[in-house]
Amino acid sequence: MSDCIFCKIANKDIPAKIVFEDEQMLAFHDLEPQAPVHVLLIPKKHFASLNDVTQSAEDKEILGHLLTKVHEIAEILELDNGYRLVSNCGEDGMQTVQHLHFHLLGKRKLTWPPG
Ligand code: 5GP
Ligand code: ZN
Repeated sequence: MSDCIFCKIANKDIPAKIVFEDEQMLAFHDLEPQAPVHVLLIPKKHFASLNDVTQSAEDKEILGHLLTKVHEIAEILELDNGYRLVSNCGEDGMQTVQHLHFHLLGKRKLTWPPG
């Protein structure tokens, strides 16, 4: 999507500190980190949120691929003491960027429940 900030990052139209990239996904540091490590994992395909993901073989492949890469990215970031993966969805979820992303947070004790 041409006016989507994360599509622009995926297309290298705007810069980001990239941690991991392959043909289907990208992981980059959040601009306003909420923990010592705060990385965003996005599929390169534009989905507005988890609500946009279908049961199609393509969507299952993309999401399955992304989720099975999490532990590799956690290893790159040396999150050997654990981490949290979260996706904010919609208004109540306080989603602010309308391109599906997962926050990978770590290197501090994260409280539960979140606010
Ligand atoms: P949300 O609130 O939608 O769950 O998360 C959006 C996240 O994207 C926020 O943590 C925000 O700091 C981050 N963000 C927004 N714009 C940019 C940007 O241009 N670059 C990067 N690296 N992060 C961004
Ligand atoms: Zn997008």
